[in-house]
Amino acid sequence: MSDCIFCKIAAGEIPAIKLYDDGEVLAFRDINPEAPVHALIIPRRHIATLNDLGTADAALVGQLYLAGKRVATDLGVADSGYRTVINCNRDAGQIVFHLHMHLLAGRELGWPPG
Ligand code: AMP
Repeated sequence: MSDCIFCKIAAGEIPAIKLYDDGEVLAFRDINPEAPVHALIIPRRHIATLNDLGTADAALVGQLYLAGKRVATDLGVADSGYRTVINCNRDAGQIVFHLHMHLLAGRELGWPPG
């Protein structure tokens, strides 16, 4: 999608601090981190929300989580702990409509989230 900021990051048209890229799934640092470690893991293909996933995307969802595990390991927070979150639509606070998984770590994370 030409007006999607995460599609532009995936295409290298706007900068991001990349942490992982396997061609289908990409991870980069959140520009406004909510924790010492805050990464976003996205599919390269434009999918607007979690609601837009189909059964054919099951493997892709697995890749997002495996990439998250890899990023957590690479950043040294796999053992101390981390949280993965996908916000879907308004009430969850989704502001970028390109599916993304947040990975937060590096401090004790409150529960339940606000
Ligand atoms: P969400 O509320 O789940 O849609 O989260 C969107 C996230 O994208 C927020 O945490 C933003 O800080 C982050 N974000 C927005 N623009 C950029 C960007 N250009 N590079 C990295 N992260 C971004």
